[in-house]
Amino acid sequence: MTIEPIDAYREIDPTLPTVVVLATGGTIAGEGSIGKATNYRPGQLDVNALVGMAEGAHDIANVRAVQICNVNSDDITAEHWIALARAIDEMAAEPDIDGFVITHGTDTLDETAYFLNLVVKTDKPVVLTGAMRPATATSADGPMNLLQSIALAGSPQARGRGVMVVFSDGIFGGRDVRKISTFQTDAFSASDFGCMGYMIDGEPHFYNTSSKAHTTTTEFEVESIDELPKVAVAYFAIDADPALLDFLVESGARGIVIAGAGSGCYSKAWNDRIVALKDTGVPVVRSSRIGAGMITHDDAYQGNLVRSNDLAPQKAAVLLRLALTRTNDPAEIQAMFDRY
Ligand code: ASP
Repeated sequence: MTIEPIDAYREIDPTLPTVVVLATGGTIAGEGSIGKATNYRPGQLDVNALVGMAEGAHDIANVRAVQICNVNSDDITAEHWIALARAIDEMAAEPDIDGFVITHGTDTLDETAYFLNLVVKTDKPVVLTGAMRPATATSADGPMNLLQSIALAGSPQARGRGVMVVFSDGIFGGRDVRKISTFQTDAFSASDFGCMGYMIDGEPHFYNTSSKAHTTTTEFEVESIDELPKVAVAYFAIDADPALLDFLVESGARGIVIAGAGSGCYSKAWNDRIVALKDTGVPVVRSSRIGAGMITHDDAYQGNLVRSNDLAPQKAAVLLRLALTRTNDPAEIQAMFDRY
């Protein structure tokens, strides 16, 4: 993978931090009908164009650029995750690089943020951002989000706080952040835990830090893994067919996350099926389709069960995939859910 200078004619300013922008696609790189915010094509513009639109970026950092891929984030795969994490680990070892920004589609940005939060091995800031409006829309939000992300990634105040997301003036923790709107520009929130702080005119203002282990203090890394185990998310609703669970196991899922109702609940029929699957050794994580609040122990539910605690289903799936690279013992996996 090559790191290309964004502007070959621009001299490095030794008084500024050096920030690497790694672009993966998404709406921030999207193009459509001029002025319109919908029915556009994500992942069209390259990283040079994105940085060029973030007016003032060169005044706050020496910006270097890497194009990882240029896709809709619904097409991001574990292969992209591993490539991204390895690129960051490798470049973080360079003393003249101060931080990283990843531009990403917003649909799955919260999953990638959590994955990186669990695996990258650096204290240097890693910041994800994106946009809700394509680059060709009136009042596109991408350039400001990117500018603020570059400022945060270059700030010494941002070191050691885990992977962060900058969106619509907010700084969010990679573990807790979730997308909460299908179209509004203020599209991310950390629900009960709140944002970590604000970005105002290129200055971070921090208020909260997650107490959960991240980056350099986790047992996960990407050096020794080339792929992640397959995990499926099963969404429970009234009359949901429990045969879905058999199908998932038969089709090779090594773990299942249940997006349960309320506090990780599901019908007697699903419970019976999960108990019947016990001998397969496939762990089943109870999480909630509500996406806020805790999942607590409940004797009514049996099987190879793990509680997601407060993690939303898509976040629980990220941790379960990493956990399965180590063990499929439900008690050991539960300890990981308690720690991360
Ligand atoms: N579908 C787009 C994506 O996730 C949405 C966005 O970026 O806002 O790539």
